[in-house]
Amino acid sequence: MQLAIGISACLLGQKVRYDGGHKASEFCLSQLQPYVRYQAVCPENAIGLGTPRPAIRLMKKTQGDIHLVQVSDASIDHTDAMHQFTEQALPAMSALAGFIVCAKSPSCGMERVRLFNEQGHQLGKAGVGLFTRQLMQRYPWLPVEEDGRLHDPMLWENFITRIFACHDYQQLC
Ligand code: SF4
Repeated sequence: MQLAIGISACLLGQKVRYDGGHKASEFCLSQLQPYVRYQAVCPENAIGLGTPRPAIRLMKKTQGDIHLVQVSDASIDHTDAMHQFTEQALPAMSALAGFIVCAKSPSCGMERVRLFNEQGHQLGKAGVGLFTRQLMQRYPWLPVEEDGRLHDPMLWENFITRIFACHDYQQLC
């Protein structure tokens, strides 16, 4: 049995990062791959940002809203495009048993993503990537984990248990 798992495309070695590189995860590619069927997604490519592309980051506006903006020019705002893409993509993800995301990304990161204010000063690392935040809000039952954390045996076991439980639940529905 192979479980359907969503994954940030760069973790599979796809050269989709802003700098034209990837973040190939040896763990996901070698150890996990035989047991799962990956559904790769690069939200930034999906909203039309090419590779390479200007770097983007999360910006917290004075009133508290979080925006996805270009680092070199914060007036270039990709927030609406990312929301729109995620809304369109979510139905196809309802059948997934889990999702592995790339850490620290303003689009894919699950936690500890750097947040900046409107003046460009870092506020801390309390952000969540815009795509992943929407994914977790819509499907709170979906096991989501960062690639790096899966090296921790306890977190790995916990993730495996949750994706099998999620898969079993879906079979019952
Ligand atoms: Fe694309 Fe997400 Fe990887 Fe960034 S972290 S390159 S948005 S898949």
